[in-house]
Amino acid sequence: MKSPIFAANWKMNHAPADATAFIRSFLANFGKRQDRSVIFFPPALSFGAVVGALKDRPDIQLGVQNIHWEDKGAFTGENSAPIARGAGAKYVLVGHSERRHVFGETEEQTGKKVAAAVRAGLTPMVCVGETLAQREAGETEQVVLRQLRAALSTISSAQAADCLVAYEPVWAIGTGRNATPADASAVHAAIRAELHRILEGGSLAVPILYGGSVNRGNAADLLAAPEVEGLLVGGASLDAEGWASIVLKRSGWLSRLSFKAYLRNHSRTAMFTRFLVILLIIDSIVLVTAILLQAGKGGGLAASFGGASSSSDSLFGTRQAGNLLTKTSWWAGGLFIFLAFILQIASSRGRAAPTSVLDQAVGTPPAAPTAPATGTGSQNVVPLQTAPATPAPAAPAPAKP
Ligand code: PEP
Repeated sequence: MKSPIFAANWKMNHAPADATAFIRSFLANFGKRQDRSVIFFPPALSFGAVVGALKDRPDIQLGVQNIHWEDKGAFTGENSAPIARGAGAKYVLVGHSERRHVFGETEEQTGKKVAAAVRAGLTPMVCVGETLAQREAGETEQVVLRQLRAALSTISSAQAADCLVAYEPVWAIGTGRNATPADASAVHAAIRAELHRILEGGSLAVPILYGGSVNRGNAADLLAAPEVEGLLVGGASLDAEGWASIVLKRSGWLSRLSFKAYLRNHSRTAMFTRFLVILLIIDSIVLVTAILLQAGKGGGLAASFGGASSSSDSLFGTRQAGNLLTKTSWWAGGLFIFLAFILQIASSRGRAAPTSVLDQAVGTPPAAPTAPATGTGSQNVVPLQTAPATPAPAAPAPAKP
């Protein structure tokens, strides 16, 4: 796994003086590290204070929470992508649920903002997520993938490959109710498959973060979930010490070594399949060893077992060794056929992706998803509806220059 990304969305919190004090306190708890990236999204008016407070820490990145889609003009109260870039931002949140649902930002506008960000050299962090009603109606993937397509529709696939995506279920933002790691993984897998399609095969570099009521208690488990490559955090990023403790959580692959997290994040079927694959590998080694030893039967074989040259005909003497090896080969061969048969049945009943038993066993993301845009292999997402995608709402009349 790549280094995880920890992004703090301060929303409308921390005036310049508070922001400076926060960064001071955060830096006291967080030394430079190569194995994770940290991004702050302060409010626009506190941006300069944070830039100043971070002047000795170029390892920590900054972004703005919003931009207008025009580069400049008569848009009182707005900030443009070039202004944000000039102020020191590298990133910008686009399509955050509060922009969509509180300020009525449309999918068409998110697309225009993504284009403006890319034009100015900012990296958009595209936020997507379904409402509770949409999840309960089984529309999670449909909504999330439609938002993703709309946001990336205004830039080339090469430019889209440099973006970040954050899956933030609306019902989880600021509610204290986070998605389970399995839920998050399932939607992330669907996003990954869609990115693969949009980017014509090159989606692996786009990090997909999870956001929605992340806190100290659940951050490690969410980070350990397959396909979760970082966290976008609102409320829990407002306290410097608490935020430092989240940022210092173990990275995904280390957390996966935790048996508790492993049990929580994998279905029983997946664990059983993995167990069978491990058994098959051990059995194959035993089988090959027994065959190789038999090939060197007689003195060589007995020597392997330490008794052939003796006439004592002990348990590991030539005759018995031959019997033991023959029996071992038969048992190992039988077990091999049996396990292969069971695994074949398991894979033919398996979900669409990952497609092979080995994929399921090692948890590799599907290499080349061929599923249609709305149908992927995420087994934990509420089933997809087959209804046609809803067109993006029309953009409001543009402001007069
Ligand atoms: C957010 O605003 O992006 C967010 C995830 O908020 P919270 O962590 O408070 O749910």
